[in-house]
Amino acid sequence: MTDEVILEVKDLKTYFNVDEGVVKAVDGVSFILHKGETLGIVGESGSGKSVTNLSIINMIPSPPGRIAGGEVLFMGRDLLKLPLSELRKIRGNKISMIFQDPMTSLNPFLRISTQMIETIVLHQGLDAKAAKDRAIEMLKMAGIPAPKKRIDQYPHQFSGGMRQRVMIAMSLSCNPEILIADEPTSALDVTIQAQILDLMRDMTSRLGTAVILITHSLGVVAGMCDTLCVMYAGRVIERGATNDLFADAKHPYTQGLIKSVPRLDRAVSDRLFSIRGQPPNVIDLPDCCPFYPRCDRAMDVCKRKYPRTTEFANNHSVGCWLYTEAR
Ligand code: SF4
Repeated sequence: MTDEVILEVKDLKTYFNVDEGVVKAVDGVSFILHKGETLGIVGESGSGKSVTNLSIINMIPSPPGRIAGGEVLFMGRDLLKLPLSELRKIRGNKISMIFQDPMTSLNPFLRISTQMIETIVLHQGLDAKAAKDRAIEMLKMAGIPAPKKRIDQYPHQFSGGMRQRVMIAMSLSCNPEILIADEPTSALDVTIQAQILDLMRDMTSRLGTAVILITHSLGVVAGMCDTLCVMYAGRVIERGATNDLFADAKHPYTQGLIKSVPRLDRAVSDRLFSIRGQPPNVIDLPDCCPFYPRCDRAMDVCKRKYPRTTEFANNHSVGCWLYTEAR
C-alpha cells in the first residue's frame, strides 16, 4: 500500500423511492482508497455495502434508485459526472468487480475463452491471438490446471471454486487499478473460501491492485484487509486500520460484531455473544443514532440527534455520542 490516493468517495448518498417512502440505502458515506490498499467494508445485510460499491461505478438501477449527492473521485475524475461512454472505458478495465455467485456472473452459453477474450480485446486493444495468450496466462496465474485446454470449456464444466478462480482471472486480466469484490466467497464452502482469498491476496499484491472487499465476515477481513469501514443503516459508523479496530473497537456495534466471532481460545461452553434486536428499517429513518434500540450504552442524546464523528489517532474515527460527550 502506498500514500497515493486513487479513489475518494465523498458524502455519497444513494436513495430508492418506494411506495412506503424513501430508502436511504447509502446516506453520506465517505472513505479513501490508496494504491495497493485492501479496504474491507463490513456490516449486516441491508447496511448499504453493496449499494455503496454499485454507486461507485454508477450502476444503480434508475428508477427506483438515484444518486442523490456526493462525489466519487477516481484518479481526479468524478465518476458520477462522466458520460456513459467514458464510464464504460473504466468499468471492467480500470475498476473491475467480482460478485458473490460465479455461476450467475459468467454467461453459461459462452466458452470461457469467448468471455475473457472479449474483455481483453475491448479494453486493452489487443488482437484475438494476443488476447487469448493473455487470458491463458491469467488462468494459469489463478491456478487453473491445463489452462490452454480449459479456456475452451463452458462454465458448467468448472466447479464453484474453479469458476470463482476464472472470475478473478477475468477481472484482473486488464490489470485494473481497483478490484471490487462483493462477498466473493460466501457461495463457496469453507476450504475453497480460504483458497480463493489466498489467491485474491496473492494476485492483487503481485499486480499492485487496490481491493474493496465487501463482506459480513470479520474473519475474512482480519486476514485480508489493511483498513476497515464498518457500515450500519447506510452510513460508515467506524473506520480505521484493521489492527486498530480489532484491538480497540470504539463503536458498540463494532464491539458487538467482534465479540460475536467464534474464537478457538474460548471455552466451548461459553455462549457466543449476539447483538440483540434487528437492523432498523431504513425507510425515512429519524435523525438519531440508528443503533440506539440495540445499544446497551444508549443515552438520551442518542435518541434525539445523529452522532457526530470523533477522530482518534492513526485515522481511526467513530460516529458515537459516547466519545463526543466524553470530550
Ligand atoms: Fe449507542 Fe448512543 Fe453510541 Fe448510538 S450514539 S452507539 S446509541 S452510545
